[in-house]
Amino acid sequence: MTDCIFCKIASREISSEIVFENDEFTAFKDINPKSKIHILLVPKRHIPRIADISKDDTKLMGKMMLQAKFLAEQLGVADSGYKLIINSGPDGGQIVDHLHLHILGGEKVGGAV
Ligand code: 5GP
Ligand code: ZN
Repeated sequence: MTDCIFCKIASREISSEIVFENDEFTAFKDINPKSKIHILLVPKRHIPRIADISKDDTKLMGKMMLQAKFLAEQLGVADSGYKLIINSGPDGGQIVDHLHLHILGGEKVGGAV
């Protein structure tokens, strides 16, 4: 999608600190980290919200969770622990309308749940 920040990061039109990339996903450092480690894992395909996924995305979403686990290992927080968050829509606190998984760790992570 032309007017989407995360699409532009994934296509490297906008620079960011990318920590992982394959054909389906990009992971990069959050510009305004809420914990010592704060990574955003995004599918390269523009999916606005978790509310927009369908049964066809079952494999993609499974890979996304597995990739989050691998990234946590890569970032050295697998044993200390981490929090995975997906915000969806205004009440969920979603600001960027491109599906993303927050990976938070490196210290005790707060949050509503
Ligand atoms: P949301 O509230 O939509 O779940 O989270 C969006 C996240 O994207 C926020 O944590 C925000 O700091 C991050 N963010 C917004 N714009 C940019 C950007 O241009 N680059 C990077 N790296 N992160 C961004
Ligand atoms: Zn996008």
